[in-house]
Amino acid sequence: MAEFGNPADETQDAPLEGSPMLDPSTLPGVPDAFQRLWTPHRIAYIQGETAPADGGCVFCQAPAVAEEDSLVVARGELVYAVLNLYPYNSGHLLICPYRHVANYDEATLEEVAELGSMTQAAMRTLRAVSGAHGFNLGMNQGKVAGAGIEEHLHQHIVPRWGQDSNFFPIIAQTKAMPQLLGEMREILRDNWHSGSSD
Ligand SMILES: [Zn+2]
Repeated sequence: MAEFGNPADETQDAPLEGSPMLDPSTLPGVPDAFQRLWTPHRIAYIQGETAPADGGCVFCQAPAVAEEDSLVVARGELVYAVLNLYPYNSGHLLICPYRHVANYDEATLEEVAELGSMTQAAMRTLRAVSGAHGFNLGMNQGKVAGAGIEEHLHQHIVPRWGQDSNFFPIIAQTKAMPQLLGEMREILRDNWHSGSSD
């Protein structure tokens, strides 16, 4: 099976190439190809201070927020797309059903279908407006799986660029964000690629 290994690992994997701050070879650990996006401290992002004062659900309330204050960038019949207030990268979107449902297998087939098509639309849009090279898509189901808000289903869409990775989020709990949320909101609203559900 050794021949199925990736001989290019040493030359291709240079996630810190753009960072003059750290030499990965000086850090403990075994390098692999997996980018650890969902480390536990990152999951603090939509908890605490962002929870509505009345204890309600942010994902139920988000669609009702006035457009000028809202981070919602696209609205479908059954699901909507909203910028994450605490993004991992510029353009980090969440696709949520309007309905307050916790788990993917509780969503209706219609909701699943539109969640899928809006995810596709989001990818096309992010590729067009920001030249994203790749994406992380994912849903954390339940607190033990890292869900920040476990009671309302949401799919993460995190655009990735070849040089976007550094160790700041891990060792300094800091993420360099090149674009303001409000700017990104306008760009996405103005350029949204309609999904097949439209
Ligand atoms: Zn909800």
